[in-house]
Amino acid sequence: MSAFVLQIEDLDESGADWNFAIGTDLLASALEDTDLRAGTEGGRFTVHAQRSGVDVLVQGHVDSLVSTTCARCLADVSIGVDLALTALYSPEHMRPKDSDEIDVRLDEVNQDYYSGSEVVLDPMVRELLLLEAPMKPLCSESCEGIAVPEHLRPPEEVFGGSAPDARFAPLLKLKEALTKNEE
Ligand SMILES: [Zn+2]
Repeated sequence: MSAFVLQIEDLDESGADWNFAIGTDLLASALEDTDLRAGTEGGRFTVHAQRSGVDVLVQGHVDSLVSTTCARCLADVSIGVDLALTALYSPEHMRPKDSDEIDVRLDEVNQDYYSGSEVVLDPMVRELLLLEAPMKPLCSESCEGIAVPEHLRPPEEVFGGSAPDARFAPLLKLKEALTKNEE
């Protein structure tokens, strides 16, 4: 079920405001299959929407907390989401035949479609939340990763004290490419 729904009949050219609660259960289902999870609190989604001919112009703001996992130590990391959204909703019959996915960008007017008498904002909000997902979230910049107990640590000289050297990455790629060519 959609949580963020505007009724077309409530809209006019001067616009109206909505204030939606973003519940943690809603966050949980919106973030399913992603690296993000709902935090302990939900958030708010405030919206100003107005009609412009057959289109509906939506300006929204998402203010929420989500959780993810530190890329180094696997601890929970809470991320504050504070994002603005501008979107233009056109009637469904105006949708180009080859586009059924929305592609949300920050700082741009995003395009989506509505059908019937309702504008459903949920997919846009979800995309917006995903934009916030950092590639490598860290609990803190200085996170040192999972602490290995002293007696389990290999002597420094065995592995040169670190994981695979990033400088070898191009070589590994080259090797991969060569192996592929042989097939
Ligand atoms: Zn960490």
